[in-house]
Amino acid sequence: MPQIIDGKAISARIKEELKEKVSDMKAEGTQVTLAVIQVGNDPASSVYVGNKKKACEYIGIRSLAYELPEETGEDELLSLIEELNEREDVNGILVQLPLPVNIDEDKVIAAIRPDKDVDGFHPQSVGSLCIGQPGFVSCTPAGIIQLLKRSGIEIAGKECVVIGRSNIVGKPMALLMLRENATVTVAHSRTKNLKEVAKRADILIVAVGKPKMITREYVKEGAVVIDVGIHRDEHNKLCGDVDYEDVAEVCGWITPVPGGVGPMTIAMLMNNCVESVGPEAR
Ligand code: NDP
Repeated sequence: MPQIIDGKAISARIKEELKEKVSDMKAEGTQVTLAVIQVGNDPASSVYVGNKKKACEYIGIRSLAYELPEETGEDELLSLIEELNEREDVNGILVQLPLPVNIDEDKVIAAIRPDKDVDGFHPQSVGSLCIGQPGFVSCTPAGIIQLLKRSGIEIAGKECVVIGRSNIVGKPMALLMLRENATVTVAHSRTKNLKEVAKRADILIVAVGKPKMITREYVKEGAVVIDVGIHRDEHNKLCGDVDYEDVAEVCGWITPVPGGVGPMTIAMLMNNCVESVGPEAR
């Protein structure tokens, strides 16, 4: 049986470390503040925003909630971001996605000052990651690096295949693995012979958004398998993009769903918030 990569335990450890750091910062007179903006009341978004608020409370980060009505105009949202950009007592700004269709998401992301961009979605943050400069990194891929490192899995020199090339998971994931000196292949819906490509991987990272698509035919014996997907199966049970039972027969390490990648995303968001106060205050 494979070794389980325990995202619940690792994320709990990271949160404890952050809690201690925030408490030391408070003792030195520094308060970390995150502004969270939600437009409309999409139920899934409300759950995510609620979880972020809870995590802030636990760690000792002050969170400011801006709950704007569905009919909020783009200009109104942009001027709120502008105001928060200017406020010295706000370190991080997060706009919960998706936004209503009348608002241009790219424009909103680009309006957040890069030094407050705790989601790491701003083009400057993505560009910095690409050329190896400091900046915020998208939370889910950053969390996966922590899962690997804290499980003692060597990355340098390994063959890594990332399936999926979205801006928030696949692309930054590939860049981070490259930064860690893996040899990286990015596969997507137009990749030919996906099974053979995936089977080359020592570390296979799956972010396709298709429930249980990855079966043992895609996995090299002993490989590390990271499952980013979150879905509900036909029995309303949570499952990932990987067919866990099947792949567990052949792989060496695997992340479960739930309890793998999921809890890391929020832990890394909290980490980015702490980073957002700037090196002189940390
Ligand atoms: P997207 O839908 O934005 O991207 C999916 C990617 O998978 C695309 O690049 C697409 O290729 C590729 N793809 C789709 N079908 C296939 C296929 N049959 N073969 C090969 N590649 C394929 O998804 P996200 O990256 O946003 O998310 C991926 C999954 O991760 C989802 O299940 C999502 O719910 C989950 N997720 C989980 C998070 C967490 O915290 N655990 C955070 C974010 C996402 P192409 O570009 O060619 O269309």
